[in-house]
Amino acid sequence: MKWLALLAALVSGAAQAQFRLDINKLIDTTKNVVKATSDIAEPEEIQIGKDMASRLLGAAPLAKDENLQRYVNRVGRWLALQTERPDLPWQFGVMEAPQLNAFAVPGGTIFVTRGLVERMRSEAELAGVLAHEISHVLRKHHLKAIQKGAQTALAGEALNQALRNQRADVREKLVNFGAEMYTRGLDKGDELEADRLGVVIAARAGYDAYGLPAVLQTLQAMNAQDSALALMFKTHPAPGERLSALGETMQPTLDAYASQPQLADRFLQQVKVRK
Ligand SMILES: [Zn+2]
Repeated sequence: MKWLALLAALVSGAAQAQFRLDINKLIDTTKNVVKATSDIAEPEEIQIGKDMASRLLGAAPLAKDENLQRYVNRVGRWLALQTERPDLPWQFGVMEAPQLNAFAVPGGTIFVTRGLVERMRSEAELAGVLAHEISHVLRKHHLKAIQKGAQTALAGEALNQALRNQRADVREKLVNFGAEMYTRGLDKGDELEADRLGVVIAARAGYDAYGLPAVLQTLQAMNAQDSALALMFKTHPAPGERLSALGETMQPTLDAYASQPQLADRFLQQVKVRK
């Protein structure tokens, strides 16, 4: 199991994991301010993502539950196969954290917290959340934010010169920006786009298209002051707003996919909810 070996490596390395942005590669991605992100080569995108993943796993390790990790990977990879980027090295992991959240990094690594998985009731709900995160990768939302942030952080400086001279303060600014992105969140427009695209991917993969809305309803019904929701609510539009935006997209086009399977039994067999 290639993924499991990687998981093990990431987990054991997480404590010491240095957040390394490959400066030489970033020179290419940032030297031209108006350059479109579509110009960033896929290997660079994947490398940046690996560094981000190490950083995230330093904050919360992967759940030590092989069966759960395998199951979430199977669902995630099936979804990713339905997209226009099926060949990315897609990897899915459940983080051992009670908070409710999910994260995507460039290049196709996606994490969902155990806290969120345990609030779900079916595979269609899991698929909806994973498809939302997959959409961030497809549309390169984080990659674009990193690129933009690197430019802002270094505004007014001779970026190329600074990077070429390997200046430690420049490197630190880039590193800090990358880390902050996951506590500040993306633009609202990116989140709503990921919702729209996510329900389409889930439907295309054969799931009830209302899995993601069902999760949003669960979040909406929870106490907004619940500390387990703090980061999710800080970094995403309110569930009610996401639901009403999705409602406009989904009716009537996606209603036809509402009768596809939810696979609640299979989900509950695989995810042993700890009470
Ligand atoms: Zn999102």
